[in-house]
Amino acid sequence: MSTTSSSTTGPPAATAPGTLRRPSQAGLHVGLLRSGAVAASAVTVLTVAWLVLLALTPSSPPGADVAGQLAFVADHPGWHVADLAVVMPLACIRDRVGHHLEVLVGDIGARPPGSPANRRATDHVHASLGVVGRPVTALPFVTRWWEPGPGWLEVGGSRIEVEPNPYSPAGEARGRALIVDELPDLEELAPVPNTVLVLAGELAREQVLPAVFPFLSLPEHDRIRSALHRLAPAAVVAVSDHWEPILEDPDLAFPSTTVPTSIGSTLATGDTVRLTVTGAVHTGTGVNLSVRLTEDEPRMVLCAHLDSKATTPGAFDNAAAVATLLALTELGYLDGLPLELVLFNGEDHIDSCGEVAWLAATDLAGIAGVVNVDGVGLAGQGLSLAALSCPPSLDTQLAGWLADHPGWVLAEPWLESDHAIFAMRGIPAAAITSQNVHALLGGLAHTPADTLDVLDLDILDQLAADLPGLLALVADELC
Ligand SMILES: [Zn+2]
Repeated sequence: MSTTSSSTTGPPAATAPGTLRRPSQAGLHVGLLRSGAVAASAVTVLTVAWLVLLALTPSSPPGADVAGQLAFVADHPGWHVADLAVVMPLACIRDRVGHHLEVLVGDIGARPPGSPANRRATDHVHASLGVVGRPVTALPFVTRWWEPGPGWLEVGGSRIEVEPNPYSPAGEARGRALIVDELPDLEELAPVPNTVLVLAGELAREQVLPAVFPFLSLPEHDRIRSALHRLAPAAVVAVSDHWEPILEDPDLAFPSTTVPTSIGSTLATGDTVRLTVTGAVHTGTGVNLSVRLTEDEPRMVLCAHLDSKATTPGAFDNAAAVATLLALTELGYLDGLPLELVLFNGEDHIDSCGEVAWLAATDLAGIAGVVNVDGVGLAGQGLSLAALSCPPSLDTQLAGWLADHPGWVLAEPWLESDHAIFAMRGIPAAAITSQNVHALLGGLAHTPADTLDVLDLDILDQLAADLPGLLALVADELC
């Protein structure tokens, strides 16, 4: 598609179906026309110029499909999708959602912040936001990212494949197994440099938050971590059926893995154990992406995280939300709302690198409220909405809205994901996810199973149809 500079100024709008009308027109300084003759000459000149420019202007986007029209807008600075005389029907959303999902999940897949794959994802999102015609902010940060590799556990002559814990240093460690399942016992141990420490029971009930996680610190987790640093084992094997790896900590110096109890229960103190871990930890840069749809203050933040864990293509967590918000934005369905669209890059990352960078660069005083979308489109599950730190009047409005919208339910407030960083600061937040999401996380979220196959595009259609009205309601109440 060729591009000419003349395409950003020129004749009045052409509004016939299938044609384009122009963005803002150049002003005419009619005050300089001091006589009828001069005015007549000027009109003639302008008319000729208008006709020439009209002849030079493309009369229609390249192709009738939505992708072609969006490509036309992206190739022509100064144009916006709202300038297309062809009205984009909501049905176009599905095509665009499918396109973004194909790129983010099908082509790119796992996209942890800092990685080359993550950069490809942000490049795609950045390019897609270009059609909005407003400045897109790319806010950089530096982080450590993990490249997974296979691992093996050898005990008593048998060798089984295991999943290394994220950020586990690569290497081979050998030692006698020592099973510990209570925190006081762990804290009483002397350093165990030639031992494979086996964490079980209460020590492996849930993931131990690493020190680099910026938003929460749990005293019991702090004690487990400091004991592990002090004990300096040859390796750690955590035994747990929890859905997350028990250790995901870039500051632990020993190889580690998490195995299910079906494997871990066969280990005994004194066994000779060898753990081999591959993979690598890298340093890289990434960006958050944001665009303000208007200059209104105060404004609402509409957000979703575009990153995924290194172990998953991240369809339901969280490409589905990103794809839906991108489609709504590029087709103009959010135009006029006092919104800043923020694609966070780090919600699933251990140091929340994107969120930390964004908070450091943003004056929260201008933000009246937040709507966050995370974990939507799961087949068989409708949509849920939770309200956090909202004034009673908004709670009432949201309850009424939910009653009018079948397929949605009110969820209990959940202080996770990107709305949490606002709600914990007292900023009203609405969180959209799938019904029963927390019961469904195990075996899906953060695993290779989170593919396009788990999604139901009808649910994303519904989200796209309902979200603009919900945003307008929240903005009316808060802004
Ligand atoms: Zn998520």
